[in-house]
Amino acid sequence: MSNLNDNGDVVECPNLAGRPTLEAVPSHRSVLGSGLPIIRHLPSRRQRLIGPWCFLDHIGPTSLSADSPVDVGTHPHTGLQTVTWLFEGALLHKDSLGYEQVIEPGQLNLMTAGHGICHSEESPPGFSGPMHGLQFWIALPGEHEDTTPAFAHHTDLPHWEKDGMSVTLVVGELDGRHSPAKVFSPLVGADIEAHEGGTLTLPVPASFELGLCINQGHAHVEGNRLDVGELYYLGQGREQLTLTLEPGSRVMLLGGEPLHQPVLLWWNFVGRDQARLEQAVADWDNWPNNRFGEVTAYQGKPLKAPRLDPQVRLKG
Ligand code: MN
Repeated sequence: MSNLNDNGDVVECPNLAGRPTLEAVPSHRSVLGSGLPIIRHLPSRRQRLIGPWCFLDHIGPTSLSADSPVDVGTHPHTGLQTVTWLFEGALLHKDSLGYEQVIEPGQLNLMTAGHGICHSEESPPGFSGPMHGLQFWIALPGEHEDTTPAFAHHTDLPHWEKDGMSVTLVVGELDGRHSPAKVFSPLVGADIEAHEGGTLTLPVPASFELGLCINQGHAHVEGNRLDVGELYYLGQGREQLTLTLEPGSRVMLLGGEPLHQPVLLWWNFVGRDQARLEQAVADWDNWPNNRFGEVTAYQGKPLKAPRLDPQVRLKG
């Protein structure tokens, strides 16, 4: 998906890292394109990053009709990976590497933007029905920021049952398992579902900053009832996390080791300094070009980058 906000995040945020905590992250509700409701959890005024995770949209839940499809036109990315994970529905990804891939629930689309890629995201032709999912961005560590762009579709992810819960490890590492999806720093993104409810204790690295996104139902952590449609920041320094889910609840545990570098975000670009973001905007303004390639399979209009005022200094 694309960040449709024209405003960069230029707000100083309190540094809550380094200790366990439990805080609701203020979210922003918005509508993408012709009517796809989203909750933008990251970045927010209170929380820019959780480990290397720098952007999180909770898509829906909603119901799409065939005459109001998702249609996010061709747009670029740099310096990040996009993680698309659906609970219901389907999306069709097309990119400048030539991939055309429908994603459905239980599958991962992982796009590594690196030095530069562009893509479109649409409903598959004729799609109608429920739509519910997540799209995250992972900031790449500085040494991999300009890596070669790539796309991967994974259908065989680690999945196990524990204490009455179903756990799917989408990316990273958890409880001795490793996702086959290629990432560039230590992190976790795991979908945890409780059909009948229960309590689960998971070991987590104390070095990981963690967050919990409540996608269905309610979760309980350390005596607090966590609400659907919210993202909670759990801080850093836990060696295990005990999670109680009410029947029918579903959450995403995300986090990782903080990147020891500035992470600046402008529109759909991530970079460790402002000059890189200014260059990315200039290169997209001069598209098509070799840096971003072209999505030859997409017929609609490309998105334009909002101007990055050189007088505004982005904070990272
Ligand atoms: Mn995108």
